[in-house]
Amino acid sequence: MKKRYDTIVVGGGIIGASIAYHLAKAGIKTAVFESGQIGQKATGAAAGMLGAHAECDKPGTFFEFARASQQAYKRLIAELKQTSGIDIKRHNGGILKLAFSESDRERLMKMGELDSAEWLSAEEVYEKEPYAGKGILGANFIQDDVHVEPVSVCRAFAKGARMAGADIFEFAPVISIEPGSGAHVVTTAAGKAEAEHVVIASGVWSGVFFKQLGLNKRFYPVKGECLSVWNDGIPLTRTLYHDHCYIVPRHSGKLVIGATMKPGDWSEQPELGGIEAVIKKAKTMLPEIENMKIDQCWAGLRPETEDGNPYIGRHPENTRILFAAGHFRNGILLAPATGEMITNMILDRPVDQTWQEAFKADRKEAVGG
Ligand SMILES: Cc1cc2nc3c(=O)[nH]c(=O)nc-3n(C[C@H](O)[C@H](O)[C@H](O)COP(=O)(O)OP(=O)(O)OC[C@H]3O[C@@H](n4cnc5c(N)ncnc54)[C@H](O)[C@@H]3O)c2cc1C
Repeated sequence: MKKRYDTIVVGGGIIGASIAYHLAKAGIKTAVFESGQIGQKATGAAAGMLGAHAECDKPGTFFEFARASQQAYKRLIAELKQTSGIDIKRHNGGILKLAFSESDRERLMKMGELDSAEWLSAEEVYEKEPYAGKGILGANFIQDDVHVEPVSVCRAFAKGARMAGADIFEFAPVISIEPGSGAHVVTTAAGKAEAEHVVIASGVWSGVFFKQLGLNKRFYPVKGECLSVWNDGIPLTRTLYHDHCYIVPRHSGKLVIGATMKPGDWSEQPELGGIEAVIKKAKTMLPEIENMKIDQCWAGLRPETEDGNPYIGRHPENTRILFAAGHFRNGILLAPATGEMITNMILDRPVDQTWQEAFKADRKEAVGG
C-alpha cells in the first residue's frame, strides 16, 4: 500500500526543511523526499548571513518579507534548540557594508531609509574593526544582519519536523508528480506516496516540476565559490561586506570568504580562478587573511528566477500544489518566513496579500526586478 500524507515536500534544503518543520509543528502529517542528503546543496554552500539590509538597499515588499524572516530567527534559536537539540549558531555582531569610493558612500548612505542601518565614519569603522583594510571612507553598520550556520539550521528544522511526526526520506529523488482530484501521487526512487498537498522546494532543480505541472518558469543557477580559513588571532567580530564579497567570522574561529557570481554554470566544483578572485577582493577588506591557513573551498548553485524573487504560493489552477523555490542569494534568510507562509496557505490561515502577489507562481516577471 502507498504511504499517505497530508503534505509531501519535494526537496530537503533549508526551504523544504523549514516548511516540513512548520507543517509538522501544526499537526500536519508531512513527508520530505530528498535526492541526496538534507542540506547538502545550495544550503550547504551558504555563508549564512541574514542580510535583510545587506541584500536589499531599499524599502519594499521584499525587504519587509526578509525583515519578518530575520525577526523569526530570534524566536527560532531557542525553539529549535529545545525541539531538536541543535544549536543554529547565531553569531551576533552584524554587518559592516564598507565604502571604498565616493559612489559606494553615496549609495550606502541612502540605506539610512531602512530601519536599523547606521552610517559610521572611517574612524568609527577602524575603531570597531582595527584590522580592516586601508582606504575605507565609511560604512553602513547593520547590527540586525547577524549570521547563522546554514547546515545546522537545516538539520535543526529537519530533526524538529521528525520529532513532531514528519517522515524525512534521504536518497529518495522524486521522479514525477501526478495531480489527482483526491490525492496527488508522488513517484520517487524509493516508491510511491500520496498526499493531499504537494510542495515543490527543490531549489534550482525545481524547473522540471514546474514544467510537469504546466507552468513555464525557468530557474537559473548562479554558481558561488567560497573558501574558509583558520583565523588564529585577528580579532574580527563583524561580517565585512563589499561589492558582493564578504568575510564572515564563524564561532569555530574560521572565516568564511565568498563568493563569486557565475550565472548559467551548473558545475558544483570550485575553480581556482574563482577562488583567486574572491581572495583578491577579501584582501582589500582584511589584508591579514594573506597569512591564514586554508580550511576548505567549495561551490554551490543559487536558484535564480527571471526577476530574482522566489516563487512562494499556490499553483494557479490546482491550489493543493504549492511552490517554494528560487530564493537566489537569500534562502537562509527567507527560510522561516517561507515555511510559515506555505503552512498558513495549506491551513487556510490569513497570509499577507502583498507577499502573495509579489511571490505568486503565475506572476508576470519584471526582468531584473
Ligand atoms: C556560495 C553561496 C553563498 C550563499 N550565502 C547565503 C547567505 O549568506 N545568506 C542567505 O540567505 N543565502 C545564501 N545563499 C543562498 C542560499 O544558499 C539559497 O537561497 C538556499 O540554500 C536555497 O535553499 P533551497 O532549499 O531552495 O535549495 P537547496 O539547498 O539547493 O535545496 C534543494 C534540495 O532539493 C533537492 N532536490 C533536487 N531535485 C530533487 C528531486 N527530484 N527530488 C527530491 N529532492 C530534490 C536537492 O538535492 C537539494 O537538497 C548562498 C548560496 C551560495 C551558493
